[in-house]
Amino acid sequence: MRLRNIPKAGEYLKASSWVVDEPKSLQGRWKQLAKDRPIHIEVGMGKGGFLIDMAKQNPHLYFVGLEKYESVMYKGVRKLEREFPNHELDNLIFLQGDAKYLLEYFAPGEVAKVYLSFSDPWPKSGHYKRRLTYRDFLSIYKTILEEEGQLQFRTDNQPLFDFSVQELQESFWQMTYATRDLHHEPHFEESQPQTEYERKFSSLGQPIYQLRAFPKR
Ligand code: SAH
Repeated sequence: MRLRNIPKAGEYLKASSWVVDEPKSLQGRWKQLAKDRPIHIEVGMGKGGFLIDMAKQNPHLYFVGLEKYESVMYKGVRKLEREFPNHELDNLIFLQGDAKYLLEYFAPGEVAKVYLSFSDPWPKSGHYKRRLTYRDFLSIYKTILEEEGQLQFRTDNQPLFDFSVQELQESFWQMTYATRDLHHEPHFEESQPQTEYERKFSSLGQPIYQLRAFPKR
């Protein structure tokens, strides 16, 4: 996501009650913070619009938004502050960090669901290991997911979708759902909120791909 660098975004985030102070400090203690609610994380949440809507609609779940870039997360924090000036939403927190360190942020089995939406496609063939559905990342998700935990992946990018299906198969994940045109599925109306990227791409007429899968144990 391209955004101009916002000076002092880092300091701002450190002071915000919507952001985890020290990313590694909650490893193994998330359930306590979540008051025993199942923990759902979005990896690469961008400005967090999807998670904010999910948190509003699902008070029985606890959401954690992981994002690498401070300047992007900053936009999400500002949105939350405007909408909930007294922090009236108790089931959402942001964590600034990188997916490659997820094992340091979460203990094995601590997470019920992982969302990946419109992850960077890294189209050059030499960059495939950076894709967030590359097998090494799948292995990380498998570790932090609880026994019945699952992954949901949504994208507008067909090559990335095809790559992901292949990686899941080769890593022995079981797919429970897949569509190559989510917005024209009969159940679409009642489905989850859209992400920021999703609105942008679907307004350009691009089909949205989605799958759900769980690691075979
Ligand atoms: N999920 C949002 C944003 C998609 S853009 C939406 O659908 O609207 C992808 C986001 O993932 C960007 O904000 C990017 O900074 C973030 N990202 C990319 N690689 C990451 C990584 N390794 N760890 C954490 N965030 C990452």
